[in-house]
Amino acid sequence: MSFDCKYKLADQQCRRLGKECSPGDQGCVLQGKVEMYKPEKKKKSPVKKSLISLVLMLLLILASCGIELPVSHYDLAGEWEGGFTGIIINQSGKISYWEKNGTSKKTVEAPLQEIDGNILKIGLGNMTTVIEITRMPWQEDGETWMEINGRTVRQIYDYTPNKGSTK
Ligand code: SF4
Repeated sequence: MSFDCKYKLADQQCRRLGKECSPGDQGCVLQGKVEMYKPEKKKKSPVKKSLISLVLMLLLILASCGIELPVSHYDLAGEWEGGFTGIIINQSGKISYWEKNGTSKKTVEAPLQEIDGNILKIGLGNMTTVIEITRMPWQEDGETWMEINGRTVRQIYDYTPNKGSTK
């Protein structure tokens, strides 16, 4: 369908409104005389919206469901590294662990869920990883060492409260 209007310019602009011709708009000569079909803007479905909120909420809950490192285990807090294994243990309970086996490397970053003696359980929800401190920290040659999952690691940074030193 086409129509002519004396205000319509060759480039489809309206001289009267100073914008693109939009019949029926406020100020248009056809205002109130015609009703133009204007497609409604697509709204986000309320179900989709609440699903997104739910997922975000669950992620937030899971991310914050860890426990802090107990005072009895403060000597584990720090960054530890060995040739094939490394671990960062924050006082807040956030743990980052990696290990290399041949050419493959496994990395886990998760909050501490449980600590039972020398066993640390870290993870989110039902997905947990068990890390065993096979030998608790000890001092030797002016360095601090620890053994995790049977592998020796050296302390690079000490996160023990009031220390925070670099080795
Ligand atoms: S907007 Fe209305 S007045 Fe302007 S050119 Fe289009 S039909 Fe004419």
